[in-house]
Amino acid sequence: MTIPTECEVSGVYEISYWVEAQAWMRPDKVALVGSRELWTYRDLHDRVVRLSRAFRNRLGLEPGGRIAIYSGNCLEYLLVLLAASRAGLVLVPLNWRLTPGELEYQLRDSGTRRILCSAEYAAAAAELTGRIGLEPPVRITPAAEPDSLPDLAGLLDAEPSGLEPPGERDPQPWDRPLLICYTSGTTGRPKGAVLNSVNMFFNAINNLLTIDLRADDVCITLLPLFHIGGINLFTLPALFAGGRVVVPDRFDPDQAVRLIQEEKVTVVFGVPTVHQRLLEAIDRLKPDLSHVRMFYSGGAPCPVPLIRAFQERGYRFGQGYGLTETAPTVFMLLEDDFARKPGSIGRPAPFNRVRVIDPATGQPVPPGGVGEITVRGPNVFTAYWQNEKATAEAIRNGWFHTGDLARIDEEGFVTIAGRLKEMIISGGENIYPVEVEQAIQTHPAVVEAAVFGVPHPEWGEVPHAAVLLEPGASVTEEELRAHCLARLGKYKIPRRFFILDELPRNAAGKVVKSRLAEITRDM
Ligand code: AMP
Repeated sequence: MTIPTECEVSGVYEISYWVEAQAWMRPDKVALVGSRELWTYRDLHDRVVRLSRAFRNRLGLEPGGRIAIYSGNCLEYLLVLLAASRAGLVLVPLNWRLTPGELEYQLRDSGTRRILCSAEYAAAAAELTGRIGLEPPVRITPAAEPDSLPDLAGLLDAEPSGLEPPGERDPQPWDRPLLICYTSGTTGRPKGAVLNSVNMFFNAINNLLTIDLRADDVCITLLPLFHIGGINLFTLPALFAGGRVVVPDRFDPDQAVRLIQEEKVTVVFGVPTVHQRLLEAIDRLKPDLSHVRMFYSGGAPCPVPLIRAFQERGYRFGQGYGLTETAPTVFMLLEDDFARKPGSIGRPAPFNRVRVIDPATGQPVPPGGVGEITVRGPNVFTAYWQNEKATAEAIRNGWFHTGDLARIDEEGFVTIAGRLKEMIISGGENIYPVEVEQAIQTHPAVVEAAVFGVPHPEWGEVPHAAVLLEPGASVTEEELRAHCLARLGKYKIPRRFFILDELPRNAAGKVVKSRLAEITRDM
């Protein structure tokens, strides 16, 4: 490998440059651990260069062109992402939980030219390309049975190994789109949040500065890579720092716990349901996980009893908050505050400016008050793909309006109170569902609660709760009511508690509260 003598400033932001930089510094260090292979930084960088060339030379893809990826987690997924970035392409990560109709919408909306897929999704991807009239998909993982699809191995073989001579790379404008991430949304059609290289760069910096990611850290990617949380918490930031990332194919709690132990993982990120299942597996397997520096939760409100359960077992457990549109990190709870502020999402990460405002007046709320989180910063997206109306609604006067409600305390720590659209107004009183959910979840029989509003002739709206119980546990509506009465003002107490076997979730695993009223109507 020759060492380039110059590089463009714009390249510094570009994500494949992060790997390139590490490949100069630590070529033989393992960057990625997959289920089939290990790749050092040299291996990864070499493949990224070859694939980015093949995108142009073999597939005829020009900078600015959109390609989609339809795959479970694997090392090749990250390779495609990095090579797309290097080739100036825009990647559309597809959520494999969606229906063909939903995927077709995203492919057409984004103007995707080519789909790359894992062997597992090859048939489904071929069906989609047939429907839309695209060239056949490119398979990125080995097929069990021979097929006629062009594949990643063929593209890599077709391009010579080695680093591009300096100057061969086109300088890329910092704000060119890199990803179009369709946000699942709990209502309405998904919108494509456009993220660029600078958004990614500052998310990495925000994570490095807050959780102190280093080259000796080992992270594990437990979230799907089609979601910004899978890509950026903490997969790409860990590569930025020269660390190692373990990428299991799918989330199996027992396997994840074994991998965390075997690979000596230091930082674990997951949504609350992932942590709940990890905890059960930890209790079953009783592993030695003393090398884990911290477990981090984000993506949905984390029940305080779950945080406590980790802490009681001697683990440090923190929370962060973010959105697809913010690439995603906005708030982080730092390690010193884990025990002191359980349930809080912490304070803004360094390069975010945050205002918690009264949605009615637009003015910042005083400590103790509840308001909408608004954000600006270099990690914040610039637009929804070809959707000026949605962009103008979301970004007003330079501030991105998240639609999330939060309470700030006197020390500036923030706790999520719910979604603006989910806020229940009962007899003129605002009820924040997350607060009520947190109270219900402190009951030992309860795993998860979802509080939603239903119309009421006298009060306008009243809260109801849907509850999931621990396996084998039982509890009555009366007991839950009494439990809440001891913790919450009377007007916040759900009028009804419905014990359900499962909660309706969207493709990203978030509870779809709009369906709860319908599901529980006749119960
Ligand atoms: P997504 O764009 O899919 O990442 O979803 C972003 C949404 O997830 C936010 O608008 C919040 O409603 C929710 N969210 C993310 N992190 C947290 C957290 N720590 N606590 C509560 N809700 C969260």
